Amino acid sequence: MSSQNPVFIPGPTNIPESIRRACDIPTMDHRSAAFPPLFERAKTGVRKVLKMDEGEVILFPASGTGGWEAAITNTLSPGGKVLAAQHGMFSLKWIDLCQRHGLDVEVVKCPWGEGAPVDRFAEILAADTGHEIKAVLVTHNETATGVVSDVAAVRAALDAVNHPALLMVDGVSSIASMDFRMTEWGVDLAVTGSQKGFMLPVGLAVVGVSPKALAAMEGAKLSRCFFDFRDMLKLGTPYTPAVGLINGLGASCDMLLAEGLDNVFARHRRIAEGVRAAVAAWGLRPCAVSPALYSDTVTAIVLPEGVDGNALVRHAADAYHVAYGAGLGEVAGKVFRIGHLGMLTDVMALLGIATAEMAMADMGVPVTLGSGVAAAQDYYRTNKAAPVQAAA
Ligand SMILES: *Cc1c(COP(=O)(O)O)cnc(C)c1O
Repeated sequence: MSSQNPVFIPGPTNIPESIRRACDIPTMDHRSAAFPPLFERAKTGVRKVLKMDEGEVILFPASGTGGWEAAITNTLSPGGKVLAAQHGMFSLKWIDLCQRHGLDVEVVKCPWGEGAPVDRFAEILAADTGHEIKAVLVTHNETATGVVSDVAAVRAALDAVNHPALLMVDGVSSIASMDFRMTEWGVDLAVTGSQKGFMLPVGLAVVGVSPKALAAMEGAKLSRCFFDFRDMLKLGTPYTPAVGLINGLGASCDMLLAEGLDNVFARHRRIAEGVRAAVAAWGLRPCAVSPALYSDTVTAIVLPEGVDGNALVRHAADAYHVAYGAGLGEVAGKVFRIGHLGMLTDVMALLGIATAEMAMADMGVPVTLGSGVAAAQDYYRTNKAAPVQAAA
């Protein structure tokens, strides 16, 4: 008997069977005529998921971190000034990557649990009349804290002072699960990876590149080779592409688009609301400091003083074979995270909530068994799932 349970980590996510099969194809010569249609199908699907009306989609055999590196090295030059907020482990790591590439990062430190500080960004951009700042970095969904930031508001802050900086967005844990509008929000570089909202194994960095970013590429002097957009655009496949994953990406986009992006986002919202109802019933609170910041893909739950979140996550894995996310960086030990993105239904969410209750009770968190489950059940009963779509 299989003891395989779904995972409740915010990536890698559970893989639908049909997508797993789509990745499992015989060896294909990527120089043969069979590859281009498969490649185009994936890129066309990604354009729709990113809501891109213009620009290019570039796929690297890498993880999301490779996408960060590609975004900056293709569009910026050594010493270039970048504006970024540090409000969680992922925003912190992207800043670190920029610094290691010799960029001059103006870091706005915010309490973890808050979103990108739009007002502060607006002040800094308004004061930068010489346009020293070449890029603004936004982590759309801070996976460490379960906080979503307002990308459109950052775009508005740039536009309000006609600032020409590129807008770079880490959408690794939001894209394909939460609303994302590359063209409408004026995003110049959008980064994600295959193993989160796209429900694939890890191995593809997915980058959306705007026409403005393509223009910046021509003068960008940071060194790059493996991640050079120019080779990708000229040759399509300057080295061996991850053919199986690319086939899986096409299948994933088809699956998301068949469900309908709005339905996908509504499903994530509904599942997340159930998880949040459970958290409230436990007498606990999300790390995100206000409801407008609540992520629909991951909830970081603040534990009572004296309970070690990392031990809780280890215990859930050992005792119940269910994976949750541990706290990272500043919130290590203080929170644990329930990932609720990708291939998930409300019924699966109930499993994750029920098991979290058992693990918390075992670790001495004063929760009443069944309280979170009941709260989520109430929410799901009164907000029923959309009818199941016929298989495409
Ligand atoms: C997972 C994640 C990353 C890192 O992606 P990898 O694929 O692990 O390299 C970056 N940013 C965010 C917001 C993430 O959730």
